[in-house]
Amino acid sequence: MRRRSVAALAVLALAGATTSAAVAVGSSADDEYSATLSGRIDPSKPKNVILFVGDGMGDAEVTLARYYAKGAAGRLNMDRLPFRGSQLHYVLKAGPGPNYLPNYTGDSAPTATAWSTGRRTQDNRLSQGPSSADNVPGSNAGYRTYLEIARDAGKATGNVSTAEITDATPAGPSAHISQRACQGPNDTRTTCPTETKASGGLGSIAEQQVDEGFDVVLGGGKARYQQPLLAGGTTNVLDYATTNGYTQQPTDKAGLAAITSLSGGKVLGLFSNGNMTTEYKPLFARTSAFITANNPTTGQTPGALNDINTQGGSATTRCDESQRSATNEPSLPAMTKKAIDLLDDDPQGFTMQVEGASIDKRDHAADVCGQIGETVAFDDAIGVALEFQASHPDTLILMTADHAHSSQIINATAVPATGSAFATLNTVDNAPIRVSYGTSDTGAGATTSGSQTHTGAEVPIWGAGPQAANVVGTLDETDIFSILNGKTPSKVGTVGTPGPAGAPGPAGTPGAAGPAGAAGAPGANGANGTNGTNGAAGTNGLNGAVGPTGATGATGATGADGKNGKVTCKVTGKKIACTVTYASSRKATSARLVKSGRTVARGTLSRGKVTFTTASRLKKGTYTLVAGGRNVRLVVR
Ligand SMILES: [Mg+2]
Ligand SMILES: [Zn+2]
Repeated sequence: MRRRSVAALAVLALAGATTSAAVAVGSSADDEYSATLSGRIDPSKPKNVILFVGDGMGDAEVTLARYYAKGAAGRLNMDRLPFRGSQLHYVLKAGPGPNYLPNYTGDSAPTATAWSTGRRTQDNRLSQGPSSADNVPGSNAGYRTYLEIARDAGKATGNVSTAEITDATPAGPSAHISQRACQGPNDTRTTCPTETKASGGLGSIAEQQVDEGFDVVLGGGKARYQQPLLAGGTTNVLDYATTNGYTQQPTDKAGLAAITSLSGGKVLGLFSNGNMTTEYKPLFARTSAFITANNPTTGQTPGALNDINTQGGSATTRCDESQRSATNEPSLPAMTKKAIDLLDDDPQGFTMQVEGASIDKRDHAADVCGQIGETVAFDDAIGVALEFQASHPDTLILMTADHAHSSQIINATAVPATGSAFATLNTVDNAPIRVSYGTSDTGAGATTSGSQTHTGAEVPIWGAGPQAANVVGTLDETDIFSILNGKTPSKVGTVGTPGPAGAPGPAGTPGAAGPAGAAGAPGANGANGTNGTNGAAGTNGLNGAVGPTGATGATGATGADGKNGKVTCKVTGKKIACTVTYASSRKATSARLVKSGRTVARGTLSRGKVTFTTASRLKKGTYTLVAGGRNVRLVVR
């Protein structure tokens, strides 16, 4: 047997090098896992919250990156998040109010506002109410953001993006302004003149981000921060940041790596003047007319446009992955890891937003490789967070997109309608994949592919960790706000209703018969001559005492989830030892002890036994033991 399996492995390795990767004909995912899933529902309030936003990353973009980089049977890190739903990201059209028509394809500003504040607004607007027009500021009342709430609750806070950090998505939770274009002071003087600090407003997005004071801010957009605070002045926003606590300002990946704690000051790391460099070199989709006019095999003018590695691709084209790594800019996973490392020092926990920004930007440009590379890097950043969560299970990870986008996987030999660009690549399966961009006419001669537009399909939202089950179903984008803040009390617990009370015990057995009455007193002696009569019989003794009450009937079975597993526990001081008997073949390895929605102890199940050790002697009250896909109520008296 052993020799055979070694030989088979060798053949497989050889095949992998020379032919396409095999895809199984059938499915192996036929396990019944609902009990396991219910065991993953954790109603406790999360200590740490990390929101990942893939800008423009709808299901089409996720699927494309998965197939290209992992193969048909491969899975991304985001696929490991156990709970998934959809969210609707429509925004508002400007109008006189108080009610507004929906706009089904909003931009990244109102969509970021939705999860950041729990409220909708109109295009271009950031965490500020709608109004009749772009240049008429709305009200900031009620548009408080989840990072502001976390900060004021004493948690550490972070904001990470591959875009300019003043771009719409990272600005959503960190600024309140009528137009997203007002990123630096100069921009604001031009476009939002009534909202400058000189005019009594909150100032540009960059200035507001300094005033917000979030602990770790990482991304691009240094040029916005280099704009002077006052027109013609010499003090810029970076200077303003330095005097307001941001005394650690790394500018490249080595500088970021050198920072080890927040004790040296808050961190403002801006690693490029504009958006950060994308991971992969561009490969633009092209129209059939463009490809016909510029393909070298048709004898047209040679030059850069003939390079199949940047124009249209082919069934053998792989993306060039070397672009960002050749710079001194840190990757999104590296920024995510550093931010977690720094923020995790806060004993009250942290809340952080991480954006993969250029999935959207490269989708706009019909740059298929750029888009895939950003999606893969974003997924690698989720892997970093999952690794942290493994040792910090009180961490909630959410992942979603702000809106959907253009790219569509089409038949690898299909040519889309005139005006639609398409590109072809070779996946890791060694199979061709073709992607069409059909939301904007790209024309035949451009060196870039116009600007594709956002689309309106619902986008996925995925979650792992405490309260992650709140993402299941069809959500509104504004619903994410309350999940980010943590729900109290949780409404997602699955503790079964207690079983019915046991039947009354049987009636006590009748008392034993009383002792016989005392013998009657002897009769008096008869008068002489006649015999005396017999004495009267003695009275009966009293009845015996009632026998003891019968034993109480057994408690009814616990009504949790219809499973028949059984848990018994014994409490001794700080220890609580439980034995779990499984009804199904799936055996949990972890168990938690929850009181009033908070996890008070964790333990590892081994052969159905788990011992929790609590910090102090267990208080009286009702606890929930979560183990083996079941929740069991324990009462400590
Ligand atoms: Mg964005
Ligand atoms: Zn966009």
